[in-house]
Amino acid sequence: MSVTAESLRRSGRFQLRKPTETTVVRPASLPELRQCLSPASPYARPFRPRGAGSSSTECATAALGTVIDMTAYNRILNIDAYNDTVAVEAGVRIGDLARALAEHGLELAGCHDQLNRTVGGAIAGGCTGPGIGNDGAYFGTQVLSVKLVTADGKILQVSHDQKNLMNAVRLSYGMLGIIYEAVLRVRPVTPFSATHRRCTVYQFSKAAENLSRTDIGIKFYLLPFRDRVYLDLRRYSPEVVATRAIPWRIKDWSESTVLPNVFKSLSKVVPISGIRNRMIDEISTITQAMVNNRLVSSGSNATANGASGGAATRLNYSTWIFPATDFGLVVEAYIDFCSKLQRENDFRCDMPTVGYRMSRDNSALLSPAFDEPMFALSAVSTQSRGWEDFVIDFAEFAQHWGGGAFFNQTRGVLPEHATNVFGSRLAFFRKIRRQLDPDNRLMNPFLSQYFL
Ligand SMILES: Cc1cc2nc3c(=O)[nH]c(=O)nc-3n(C[C@H](O)[C@H](O)[C@H](O)COP(=O)(O)OP(=O)(O)OC[C@H]3O[C@@H](n4cnc5c(N)ncnc54)[C@H](O)[C@@H]3O)c2cc1C
Repeated sequence: MSVTAESLRRSGRFQLRKPTETTVVRPASLPELRQCLSPASPYARPFRPRGAGSSSTECATAALGTVIDMTAYNRILNIDAYNDTVAVEAGVRIGDLARALAEHGLELAGCHDQLNRTVGGAIAGGCTGPGIGNDGAYFGTQVLSVKLVTADGKILQVSHDQKNLMNAVRLSYGMLGIIYEAVLRVRPVTPFSATHRRCTVYQFSKAAENLSRTDIGIKFYLLPFRDRVYLDLRRYSPEVVATRAIPWRIKDWSESTVLPNVFKSLSKVVPISGIRNRMIDEISTITQAMVNNRLVSSGSNATANGASGGAATRLNYSTWIFPATDFGLVVEAYIDFCSKLQRENDFRCDMPTVGYRMSRDNSALLSPAFDEPMFALSAVSTQSRGWEDFVIDFAEFAQHWGGGAFFNQTRGVLPEHATNVFGSRLAFFRKIRRQLDPDNRLMNPFLSQYFL
C-alpha cells in the first residue's frame, strides 16, 4: 500500500459518512419544488437532488441540509410516435418508461440496466451500458431539452441548440439545478443478436483492442480468481426477432438478485474464507456459464433490460473508466491487483467484476469518453467489511492507469486526478456552475472537492 493510500485512509476522507439530521422533502408539484429552493425556503442548505439513490458516492447526500427526492415527479407526459420523442417528468423510472414506449413500438437508444433508476438521475449522473454502434454512451445523449429549477428557485429551460449549456447539464450531478422535465429522442424497437463467449483473461486482454474498434455492444463478467471472462456481444441485425423479455429477466434476476443474496448468506454461514471463496467462485462460474450461454440469443432495448432493483441497489460498487486502447494491459494488471489484495489484506470482491465498452461520446462536458472509446470496469461486492479500504486501493490502481470517473459511481477520486483527466472541460464546467449557483446552494462537501 502506498503512502498516499495510507494517509487517505487515516484522514477518513473517503469514509462513507452517515448523513446526520438531513431533511428529505418530496415535492410533487412545480410550486413546491420552487419553494424548496427559493431564497425564502424553509429548508436548510445545501440542497441535493436525489432520484432512485443508486449512486455509490456521496453526491446525493446533504448532511445538515436538504435532500430533494424527485420520485413523486413520475408522469410520462407525452409519447410522440410520429416525431420519435417522449416528454417525461424527472422521477419516472427507466423501467416504466421502457415498458410504456414498447407499447408504441418504441425504445430508448443504448442499453440501460438497473431499471429502478430515474430519468433525472440518469441524465445528471452516469448512466451507460454496452451501447451498440453509434448509440452514444450515455442515457443523457438522447436528451433534446430539459426544464430545471435553478439554485435560487428560478426556471431554466435548455434545448439541444444551446449546445454548451446542454452539454454541461448532461452529467452535471445536480449542480446546475434540479431537472423536473425532459424531452428525449426515442426510436422504433431495433432487434439485436446476442452471442456469448467464454475465454481466459489473457485471451480477452489480447482481443480487447480489436473489440474496442468494432461497433459491437460488449458487456463482460470477469472472475479474477478463476481466470475467466464471460462476454455478452450484441449486434444489430434486421433478421433476428427479439427474444421475449422473460429470459432477460431471468438472466438479470440470477445475476443481480440470486448471486448477491447467496453470497451474503455464505459470508454468514461459512466463516473460513478459503472454503467460502472456493464456493463463491464455483457458484459464479456455474451461473455465468448458464445465463451467459443458453438463455438469450437476441433482444432489443425494450426487452433486454432485466428488472434490477431490490438486492442490486444495496450492492457496494465503484466504477472506473479506462481508455479502450490500453484496456488489455489494464485488465491483466487488475487481476494481479486483486490477487495481491487478497494475499495482503484478505479482502476480495465476492461478485464478478462487470464491464462494458463505451463508444466515444462528447455530448457531455464531464464525459469520461469525450475523446475516445473507453471500457468501464465495475468492482462489485456484497461485503461491507474491508470495502472502504478496497475502494481506496482500487482508486490508486485506476488513477495509475489513467482511469476516468463518474462522480456518482467512482469512489476515491483525488481532486488533482480529476483536474488532470478532465482538464479544461472541468474548468469550463466550474465556470458555468458558478454562474448558475454563485452561493453554492447545491454543493455539498463531497462535490466541493472537485467543483468549487
Ligand atoms: C447494482 C447497480 C448497478 C449499476 N449499474 C450501472 C451500469 O451498468 N451503468 C451505469 O452507468 N450505472 C450503473 N449504476 C449506477 C446508477 O444506477 C446510475 O448512475 C443511475 O443513473 C443513477 O440514477 P438514480 O436515479 O439512482 O440517481 P441518484 O443516484 O439518485 O442521483 C445521481 C446523481 O444525479 C443527481 N440527480 C438525481 N436526480 C436529479 C434531478 N432530477 N435533477 C438533477 N440532478 C439529479 C443526484 O444529485 C446525483 O448527483 C448501477 C448502480 C447499482 C446500484
